[in-house]
Amino acid sequence: MPRSNAADPIPLSQPDITEAEIRGVVETLRSGRLSTGPRLEEFERLIALRVGRRHGVGVSSGTAGLHLALLALGVKPDDEVITPALSFVASANCILYVGATPVFIDCDPRTLNMRPREVEKHITDKTKAIVAVEVFGNPAGMSDLAALSTKYEIPLIEDACEGLGGRYLDDPIGRYGRLAVFGFYPNKQITTGEGGMIVTDDDRIADLCRSLRNHGRPTDSTVADEGLGSCLVHERLGYNYRLSELHAALGVAQMRRLDELIEARQRVAAAYTRRLMGNTDLILPTVEPDTFMSWFVYVVRLSDRFTADDRNYIIEGLHRHDVGAADYFPPIPMLPFYRRMFGYKPGDYPVAESVSQRTIALPFFNRLSDREVDLVCQTLELMMTRIAFARS
Ligand SMILES: *Cc1c(COP(=O)(O)O)cnc(C)c1O
Repeated sequence: MPRSNAADPIPLSQPDITEAEIRGVVETLRSGRLSTGPRLEEFERLIALRVGRRHGVGVSSGTAGLHLALLALGVKPDDEVITPALSFVASANCILYVGATPVFIDCDPRTLNMRPREVEKHITDKTKAIVAVEVFGNPAGMSDLAALSTKYEIPLIEDACEGLGGRYLDDPIGRYGRLAVFGFYPNKQITTGEGGMIVTDDDRIADLCRSLRNHGRPTDSTVADEGLGSCLVHERLGYNYRLSELHAALGVAQMRRLDELIEARQRVAAAYTRRLMGNTDLILPTVEPDTFMSWFVYVVRLSDRFTADDRNYIIEGLHRHDVGAADYFPPIPMLPFYRRMFGYKPGDYPVAESVSQRTIALPFFNRLSDREVDLVCQTLELMMTRIAFARS
């Protein structure tokens, strides 16, 4: 279904909500059961089944899921956790929540993921986990990271928040790590408004995460094991990271449409690639052979003829033309908070810094028409031409 008015502004992102989602949420409201009920269980089953895992544990956000993943692995103050320099801030913040130290790894200039050889170089006696991200949904290098995790016996946490539905060969995103975490913010492949999910094959870790998300209450299985009768026996410091039945109902309806949603996103990505392929001043997203991309965003990079200021000028120009655009992602160690806390300085992560100065995330959502893709690309190219002209 195309959007209503062709002259409307084109947003950066937009969730794909149909009557099925609305019906699911309204039925749940009418059911009277608004928290920890059958919708959550169904949503957890659907995700676990899809990625081939024994357990799904729904939580209130992807970030909450990452926090619990590190707690469940027992990561403590003074431990080190390896994580990408180029990612969304949550993949490093979760390490600070448990008092551990993030060890940032520069990215591969093509795939934008951590380079396994760089990861290996940074492993020390203090390394207690690796948080790996499929940046923009790309699983490149993930099997090598899983092999490193086995070789050094350091658990891998997959921050799979950008990759639901993607796979490399037969391995779905979400099955590489000891645990993986998905996020369901409205710009992701599926949304629950706010929400996340931990998946794992480890019964003990799943149980622990269920307890931690629910104020540290004993879970059904620990109640049975230890004869604890009350849900007010708080065994450990817990959190309220529960996912409500309303959110889960939205998630169930979205999961039932997952393949349709992925296909729609592939159509838009293909339209961009076709339209921009011939432009030698743009680097388009890299998709390695044998990769099935579940597209999260469509991020292009300007060639190194362009500076960070040029990129910002182009993004402002797109905004002036009512076209959404963003500078995904500034390197996490270069964010003011991380620079203040750890003393990072420009040049510490040269590849991530150079890449992030030239990225532009273009409008990307299921209902973007070919005409709108063309309009976005025309505006982008107009801005690029203006810069080239101003120089000549
Ligand atoms: C979206 C995202 C998250 C989780 O975000 P929430 O807003 O907490 O759901 C975590 N890591 C990455 C890499 C993400 O893109």
